[in-house]
Amino acid sequence: MFRLLRDSQWRQGRLLILCYHGVSLQDEHVWRPNLYMHPEVLEQRLRILEEGDYNVLPLADALNRMYDQDLPPRSVAITFDDGTYDFYKQAYPLLKAFGFPATVYQSTYYSDYPRPVFNLICGYMLWKRGGILPGRGRELGLDVLMDLRTDASQRVVVDALLLKAQKEGLNGQQKDELARRLANFLGIDYDEILSKRILHLMNAQEIAELAAAGVDFQLHTHRHRTPDDTRLFQKEIQDNRESLQRITGSVAVHFCYPSGVYKQEFLPWLQAENVVSATTCDVGFASSRDSKLLLPRYVDTSYRTGLEFESWVTGVGHLVRRRRTINHARNAGGGPFR
Ligand SMILES: [Zn+2]
Repeated sequence: MFRLLRDSQWRQGRLLILCYHGVSLQDEHVWRPNLYMHPEVLEQRLRILEEGDYNVLPLADALNRMYDQDLPPRSVAITFDDGTYDFYKQAYPLLKAFGFPATVYQSTYYSDYPRPVFNLICGYMLWKRGGILPGRGRELGLDVLMDLRTDASQRVVVDALLLKAQKEGLNGQQKDELARRLANFLGIDYDEILSKRILHLMNAQEIAELAAAGVDFQLHTHRHRTPDDTRLFQKEIQDNRESLQRITGSVAVHFCYPSGVYKQEFLPWLQAENVVSATTCDVGFASSRDSKLLLPRYVDTSYRTGLEFESWVTGVGHLVRRRRTINHARNAGGGPFR
């Protein structure tokens, strides 16, 4: 069944754009299995692509050929969102060993400011000390109960930290100082986190090195956000593009919506910035019928088994999902057939 579909005419007209985020340096995949995966899981996926004789194409090439209806059989493109340091350390050596090209949608603010991403590192450290009730967070200037017993209660603390940072207008350095105070409060060695570069983005030197080695760096906004204001939205693209151009020497024209969030009004704003393609986190195969600015991907995570991954690259997963959607629509009393 897998082989039949993988080698079918139906599959040949389609491109599966794979979406990855982080590859653990330590235990990040235990903290956020949807965001991070163990390097062995990534290696397993790449082996499936190799053994199934998939054509892993550079993104721009894949999209050109898709719209020209000239895709080779079993086409796949590999993308990584955010551009975390672990791409440099964990993912790139694996991709290189398999000889697969990849696109990194690089957010750049934290590339210029080499400290961990504030909200992520706070969440990670609270998770590290999960299960305890260290009292009220007055030492940190917070007025919430530091309840670290559940994922939800940890999120309340992260939200309080973010609100404090926003209210007080803290800059990057001040937020980093607050993260360090949180580490001290929790009894975590912050310098160790810094030295391992956990939840850091790649810095300019690392991006330059990988770009020279053939990794494709593209747009993901400067600060990983898509403001509703036209001018601010476009500034995010411009700052991101300028930063990447300064580092890589190339003009980035492909875009990925941060957190997969998109709105129809973004499309003309992207066009005005000469963005050629944009990918979402909506799951599916891309085909020449898709809008260039709303291309679906397959978001691969630690939650998915090797078999599930393989069913997707062959095309079986897509058909199964389609059937499920139709059945669901029927059970819900109608809805459009798509
Ligand atoms: Zn992202």
